[in-house]
Amino acid sequence: MAEDCGERSIIARYFPGTPPELWPAGEVLYFRDELGRIVLREAPLELRFEVLERVPSGKPVLCDACKRQRARHEAVFARAELPQADGRHYLYRTFCADTASCAERAEPRHLREILARVILH
Ligand SMILES: [Zn+2]
Repeated sequence: MAEDCGERSIIARYFPGTPPELWPAGEVLYFRDELGRIVLREAPLELRFEVLERVPSGKPVLCDACKRQRARHEAVFARAELPQADGRHYLYRTFCADTASCAERAEPRHLREILARVILH
C-alpha cells in the first residue's frame, strides 16, 4: 500500500501527463470531511469539494460519482479549487447529498475520472 502510494507519487511528480488509467491503482477514498466538504482522494491526488447551495428544484440530475439520476433534493452541487491553479479555477460537480451511500455505489473509475481533472485541466 505504501509502496503503491510511492509509485503514484513519483508518476504525479515526474510524469504528470500520464493518463490516470495507466497509473498503478491506489485506493480511492470518497467521504465528507469534518467541515462537510466532499473529499475525493487517491494519493497523491486529492480534491475537496465545497458544497454550494442545493440545486433548485427542476429536472433530475446525474450524480458524477455513482452516475445515478437523483431528484434535485437528493443532490448537491459542489466546487473544488484546482490545486495548481491560482485560486480562481474551480471544478464543478454534482454529487448525491448522501455521500456515504453514494460511496457504496460509486465505481472507482468514475471517481478517478473526476480526480483526473487535477492533472489534466
Ligand atoms: Zn451518487
